[in-house]
Amino acid sequence: MAEGVSKKRKVENEKRENDKKPVKKFAGHWSQGLLDTMNDPEFIVESDDKMTIIKDKYPKAKYHFLVMPKETIPNLKSLKSDHLDLLKHFEEKGRALAKKTDAKVKFRFGYHSVPSMSHLHMHVISQDFNSPCLKTKKHWNSFTSEYFVDSEEIIKMLEKDGKVHFDVKDSQSLLNQDLRCHVCKKAQKNMPTLKDHIKMHDYSVD
Ligand code: AMP
Ligand code: ZN
Repeated sequence: MAEGVSKKRKVENEKRENDKKPVKKFAGHWSQGLLDTMNDPEFIVESDDKMTIIKDKYPKAKYHFLVMPKETIPNLKSLKSDHLDLLKHFEEKGRALAKKTDAKVKFRFGYHSVPSMSHLHMHVISQDFNSPCLKTKKHWNSFTSEYFVDSEEIIKMLEKDGKVHFDVKDSQSLLNQDLRCHVCKKAQKNMPTLKDHIKMHDYSVD
């Protein structure tokens, strides 16, 4: 890819990261950026014949990885019962990586109900949310409200219904809800107060 195009995509991607705007998809769009990063040795953490794990380019916590399939699966809506073993493999690999990275810190493993980036990806994210990239209310709510769905829940849904579906409008409204600490649930005035408040909690495993 020409450097100019790649630079432009980076700028658009960073801007979108800050806005978390709804997505229009077309080839070469920033929403396809995970596919580029999946092939970037600087970001690859591990891979096998079924999946690749990369470091999230704009980590929202001290540790933030993305587990992605080698096969083309655009999103949660594309999942079928045949993918159950793959999703279980993602979770197993994600949990093993979290343990290897920092066994003392709490992690969650899951998906955004309405992701902005194309290509299925499971987030592996530590629960400290200590990162300069976590800037907006939408970022916060996307990882701490029901917008973030645990892998176990997705697997159960797929086992029960043979598909995974979320209402886009309901999910989007979760992103606008008032700020609240994810540990003690205390209401927070704004992002700076929230970021200051969450430092007082302990994110060690029980
Ligand atoms: P979502 O699609 O909402 O589940 O989240 C997409 C995730 O991908 C976010 O955590 C972003 O920080 C991350 N991200 C965005 N662009 C890239 C990229 N080009 N490479 C790696 N991670 C990215
Ligand atoms: Zn709190």
